[in-house]
Amino acid sequence: MLIVHKYGGTSVGSLERISSVASRVAKAKNSGNDIVVVVSAMSGETNKLIEFAKHFSDNPSKREMDMLLSSGERVTSALLAIALKEVGIDAIAMTGRQAGIKTNSFHTYARIESIDPKAMQKEIDSGKVVIVAGFQGINENGAVTTLGRGGSDLSAVAIAGALKADACEIYSDVDGIYTTDPRIEPKAKKMDYISYEEMLELASLGAKVLQNRSVELAKKLKVKIVAKSSFSDAEGTVIGEENKNMEAVLVSGIALDRNQARVSLRDVSDRPGIAGEIFTKLADEQINVDMIIQNASSNGLTSLGFTVAESELARTKEIIDNFDHDIGGKSFDSDICKVSIVGIGMKSHSGVAATAFSALAEENINIEMISTSEIKVSMIIAQKYAELAVRTLHSVYKLDA
Ligand code: ADP
Ligand code: ASP
Ligand code: MG
Repeated sequence: MLIVHKYGGTSVGSLERISSVASRVAKAKNSGNDIVVVVSAMSGETNKLIEFAKHFSDNPSKREMDMLLSSGERVTSALLAIALKEVGIDAIAMTGRQAGIKTNSFHTYARIESIDPKAMQKEIDSGKVVIVAGFQGINENGAVTTLGRGGSDLSAVAIAGALKADACEIYSDVDGIYTTDPRIEPKAKKMDYISYEEMLELASLGAKVLQNRSVELAKKLKVKIVAKSSFSDAEGTVIGEENKNMEAVLVSGIALDRNQARVSLRDVSDRPGIAGEIFTKLADEQINVDMIIQNASSNGLTSLGFTVAESELARTKEIIDNFDHDIGGKSFDSDICKVSIVGIGMKSHSGVAATAFSALAEENINIEMISTSEIKVSMIIAQKYAELAVRTLHSVYKLDA
């Protein structure tokens, strides 16, 4: 079998941890499998490099940021290869470029366009463990690109797809996918199995245990993901196709996203085209608008509220401040968060959302915005209620039972 292992920041966070990963990889290789390993930078390293750049500039060149940030993964890939050779396993470290990973040119948030697996395959065929620096590729001009935060998960899934691997095992400090973040609700339960669809919603709605783009790609390429811990030998959670034989659970998990901010615009002229104008300006700057609420107008004026990622609030504010007509008043609020319930079973049941609203009301938590899809309900609430809301919802849907 060919298995791709991915080790995240905490799993390679110290030299001792890298030794321990080397033992785990050696064991998997010695049991007769071909192994390709994708590594992240040591935990904290990427943030440290970002701070270094900020020392010199508030707005550093994105091309140079990619040169800088890609170095963290290079360090761990080489160290792991050295450690493996020391325990008698032949290994070779590769950068994204050497592994054949081509991306578009959107620096710091590049998309993978193709992977030529020949170079990796050659080393695998010669019996080596291939260790690829995650989170990176090159564009058509040969410049290094990175794939967005948490992007080593995406590297691992894409490589597993290109090599037609039997599975992609993603190792972190948690031994699987839980019904909610176990750091917030210790009563959260580990799932044996979760569908791509539900995992994609959880990841997109804030459960950073897997990067959302990696789940999207796994679904497309039919790569089987197993989320496991590098700190234990526990079974882990399989992420795969929706299992039609299993009765879909109503709610499978609760996600929390603290990286949210709200913009409220008051006394906006209620004329056709105004919303289009505002949101086009934001879209032109690649700002993703999530929830939108417009109120009924009176006297030809209306109010408009929407949410963006908190990390994009400063840029959003700049654009809105420069919008010099048709907006009477405005305010910006980053003391909010988004809690979401996710479950395939919601497709065929009514009343799921009502249960959530009543449960939060009983805790005196005011819901400020709501959005729903077939398999999720998201609610914007005050940041200070984040944990309470997660635990309340977790319990009302009996996820700890
Ligand atoms: P890595 O650095 O290895 O990529 P991450 O820190 O990105 O690991 O992801 C692991 C973390 O994800 C866990 O420590 C946990 O707190 C968090 N997490 C959030 N939601 C969940 C969930 N539903 N199940 C498991 N872990 C979750
Ligand atoms: N090192 C990168 C980050 O911290 C990529 C990753 O860990 O997946 O975002
Ligand atoms: Mg991660």
